[in-house]
Amino acid sequence: MAYSYEAPVSQTLFDRASLVTPGGVNSPVRAFRAVGGTPRFMVSGTGPYLTDADGREYVDLVCSWGPMILGHAHPDVTAAVHDAVARGTSFGTPGEGEVALAEEIVARIEPVEQVRLVSSGTEATMSAIRLARGFTGRAKVVKFAGCYHGHVDALLAAAGSGVATFGLPDTPGVTGAQAGDTIVLPYNDLEAVRAAFAAQPGEIACVITEASPGNMGVVPPLDGFNAGLKEICAADGALYISDEVMTGFRTSKAGWYGIDGVRPDLMTFGKVMGGGFPAAAFGGRADVMAHLAPAGPVYQAGTLSGNPVATAAGLAQLRLLDDAAYAKVDAVSAELRSLVGEAFAKAGVAHTVSAASNMFSVFFTDEPVRNYEDAKKQEAFRFTAFFHSMLEQGVYLPPSAFESWFVSTAHDATALERIAAALPAAARAASEAVA
Ligand code: PLP
Repeated sequence: MAYSYEAPVSQTLFDRASLVTPGGVNSPVRAFRAVGGTPRFMVSGTGPYLTDADGREYVDLVCSWGPMILGHAHPDVTAAVHDAVARGTSFGTPGEGEVALAEEIVARIEPVEQVRLVSSGTEATMSAIRLARGFTGRAKVVKFAGCYHGHVDALLAAAGSGVATFGLPDTPGVTGAQAGDTIVLPYNDLEAVRAAFAAQPGEIACVITEASPGNMGVVPPLDGFNAGLKEICAADGALYISDEVMTGFRTSKAGWYGIDGVRPDLMTFGKVMGGGFPAAAFGGRADVMAHLAPAGPVYQAGTLSGNPVATAAGLAQLRLLDDAAYAKVDAVSAELRSLVGEAFAKAGVAHTVSAASNMFSVFFTDEPVRNYEDAKKQEAFRFTAFFHSMLEQGVYLPPSAFESWFVSTAHDATALERIAAALPAAARAASEAVA
């Protein structure tokens, strides 16, 4: 497929990057491999807009994959960062900022009695799994196909592939031993979870699930699914780990927990809580967290954990995220979902706009999507045409049909009008696309 919109400066940068970095990017999905074309190298962001190296402005519907819930370069967050930087950027000692951020998290999310700060969502889930294994003295971990928990070896042994079901590695470099204790089950299927526990009673350390998945597109839990997981875990003495790296502090003030109220034993966070900097966390029951070094024997550490600049950014962002801010993000998302739905309906494109609070994505099918297998049945080739038409018209979507779209408090009427103006042609492109 040829794309009419050229991006010569981005292309030059991509060529340079490809010589010194595998695939030209530092995180795979940024490379546009799923949609083709030249990845846009961004040089600045303000509010709901990004500007690329060719001087083109886009309405941003990626928001750095979730963190930028107040839009780019929010003045209060920027001021907090400047202030922190001026006082030194890393001390390798405890500091008040990390205490304040931990207090903010504990105050917002009732099941989190204690929390440990780390630098990425991957670190958070990796550490939570280790802690669950250390606490229970068990080895096995249940995860769901289509859920992504970062690139933790044991948790990559899944990613929707059939071989993963047999505990085989999904990714070269992950050994059978690392993957062998991972049990991969279909999402939204409590019977499968019950069967796994029945087949190996007393052996499963934890079930880890995205609180509401956004990494196979947005596929919310069916009513009672998370509660059922919690119940099954509790009955067997396993821990229920809710991964809120994506949903945490985004879907409500208390993340997905604020919506479904199912009380996890452990939770993981990232993205929004870092205000655009590398800050993440895991936390939960105090008796479980007490097993973590130096209080307990399960080792976990980090040179930059609780970094003063990252914690200042995260704290400034969280303090701005009051009820009014969530109401705004929810309203923007609702309006955008209806614009998108209307455009596809008008163009006669079979689609489902699937939402979980203010996170949403479009599946190119009108069949229900309840798990990864369903999600893969969509006509993803239509997304490619849609994506490129939107890009040409100045709207930056996630470059994959299997990712959530993200909006912010900064997406105002002007930004929404720009999107609305781009949608009819893009929906037509989707309708005319051929596999
Ligand atoms: N967990 C979930 C639910 C995520 O969506 C992600 C990243 O997208 C991660 C964990 C990993 O976080 P990070 O990319 O910060 O390592």
